Amino acid sequence: MDRELKQKCPVCGTQLRGREYFEGSNLLEAYESCPHRHYNYSFSYGYTEIWIGTYRMSMSYKDSNKKRNMDAHLYKMAVINYQEKHKEELVELLL
Ligand SMILES: [Zn+2]
Repeated sequence: MDRELKQKCPVCGTQLRGREYFEGSNLLEAYESCPHRHYNYSFSYGYTEIWIGTYRMSMSYKDSNKKRNMDAHLYKMAVINYQEKHKEELVELLL
């Protein structure tokens, strides 16, 4: 069953909903999404996929530090771009 998570949507700050599947203490799969569809995250067996609006990123546990740093930067930029493009809609959400 879906549940509310502590993590918040990077775009609008709403609490994310998601599911997690463990095997013992190992996290096998995790899914998180914003109820307003700004953000979607999935982790499955070491592979991560993130959507910020229509912008997609994918990561692997095998990624180099260089790619991780680049991805962190691209992620921030994607969030800022999305917020900028959807300013009016976001203002309404916060009211
Ligand atoms: Zn959101």
